[in-house]
Amino acid sequence: MSEYGKITPAIVAELRLAIGDRNVIYEDKDALDNYACDMAGKIFRHDPEIVVRPENRDQVSAVMRIASKYKIPVTPRGAGSGLAGAAIPIHGGIVLSIEKMNKILEIDPVNRVAVVEPGVVTNDLCKAVVEKGFLYAGYPMSTETSYIGGNVGTNAGGGKVIRYGSTRRHVMGLEVVLPSGAVMELGGKFRKDTWGYSILQLMIGSEGTLGVITKVIVNLEPLPGKTVNLLAAYPTLESLVSTVALVVKSGVKVISCELMDRFSVDVTTKYVGTTLPFQDKTEAYLLIQIEGEGDDELENAYEKVGALCLEQGAFEVFVAESRIDSAMIWNVRQNLAEGMRSFDPYCSLSGDLVAPLSVVPELIRTIARVSEKWNVRTAVLGHIADGNIHPIPIKPDDMTPERWGVYSEEYFEDLIKEAVKLGGLGSGEHGVGFLKLPALLHTKTPEETAIHRAIKLAFDPLEILNPGKLIQEK
Ligand SMILES: Cc1cc2nc3c(=O)[nH]c(=O)nc-3n(C[C@H](O)[C@H](O)[C@H](O)COP(=O)(O)OP(=O)(O)OC[C@H]3O[C@@H](n4cnc5c(N)ncnc54)[C@H](O)[C@@H]3O)c2cc1C
Repeated sequence: MSEYGKITPAIVAELRLAIGDRNVIYEDKDALDNYACDMAGKIFRHDPEIVVRPENRDQVSAVMRIASKYKIPVTPRGAGSGLAGAAIPIHGGIVLSIEKMNKILEIDPVNRVAVVEPGVVTNDLCKAVVEKGFLYAGYPMSTETSYIGGNVGTNAGGGKVIRYGSTRRHVMGLEVVLPSGAVMELGGKFRKDTWGYSILQLMIGSEGTLGVITKVIVNLEPLPGKTVNLLAAYPTLESLVSTVALVVKSGVKVISCELMDRFSVDVTTKYVGTTLPFQDKTEAYLLIQIEGEGDDELENAYEKVGALCLEQGAFEVFVAESRIDSAMIWNVRQNLAEGMRSFDPYCSLSGDLVAPLSVVPELIRTIARVSEKWNVRTAVLGHIADGNIHPIPIKPDDMTPERWGVYSEEYFEDLIKEAVKLGGLGSGEHGVGFLKLPALLHTKTPEETAIHRAIKLAFDPLEILNPGKLIQEK
């Protein structure tokens, strides 16, 4: 592991001079505390020595130059909604929070792009572009809290990937500050690029280990036609899974296809104060959002999908025809993680298996088997059409939170090994951070690991940028 410098009063003074007193948090324990964890949970906390909140690209450059000079580790941070511990300063040092760089710089209708600073809240961008007649198709379930920069840092997925793809598909250009403080412009407002290796694509999902993103150019889609939400209720989780592939290949325009099991729905409906249709006899729901150009197309589409669900074992299909019904259903889906946390503040939200759709039934059986072996009660939900399943294990009553921190990650390691055997991966959207790094290293060949290291060193020879995340330290 690299030897890092420590923050000294002289370095604090240098940072203050470079970016202004008001943008530096130092020796204020309560304020620093807000940057010690992400949504993986408080049990994984590490304290930063100092937090900087630059207001522009030049200030980010200045911070990186100072950090390089004294070999101080720097952890870039968005909204801290990540679930893999990727924004936690495990070596102390500087947390570089992007929260003050939060302007939508341009919505360009001719080129169908928006240019934004990285601290723009995802949902704020979504709302702003709707007003101009566009859709920003990135849609993590944390859309109301996460930042665009964090979405790029993690290559966020979410509820519309089956139709529009992950964040990677929406990013056309980036401005990035390298660990040395140098600035790189990648991509732009154009839609084709065979002009050398794509460093742009390499940056997406790099979890703050290669550079600090200071500007993002995102693709905008035309607004979808009319949409409708269907809620298909199944008597067993197993019976639900066979529907998904058929719905996806039915020719209907599917925007979302989400799985919610009984456990997660029961605790979340209590948390948000609602109930879902047929809840007392439903073991698993499929929430399907479909699109149609007009009323006729939409009606044909939902009748076709509804019939498929019933043929495959659903006992009821509820069509949410009003905005209120749709909002009520999506409110439950969007709050599943919060609902589970309200049931057990220590439940682990970091599970994020992904597998080919054809093996998802086996993956779900595997989750049940491994949970039984580890003696943990587990909720199962996720973006099922993407093959992306989130198992959420609950801390057993007789286990301390500290022990649970280790135990739950060992449980996930076991699950990930099984998912890999089935042809899957340990993360589809949450990323690796430091929590999933041991499992990642087990599944990569030495050749791939060596290339990852060489890439890291090409960007960050001093290894000061987010050390201990995504790739093994020296
Ligand atoms: C309730 C809930 C639901 C969620 N649902 C989803 C979902 O559906 N899909 C999904 O993909 N994720 C989901 N997540 C996880 C999380 O919201 C995403 O990973 C999100 O993209 C993180 O954004 P953030 O701004 O909070 O980033 P942070 O958590 O602050 O940081 C994440 C990573 O990005 C890096 N980073 C942040 N900003 C920059 C920058 N400017 N430059 C370089 N690196 C940077 C950080 O260093 C870190 O490695 C969910 C989380 C919660 C709590």
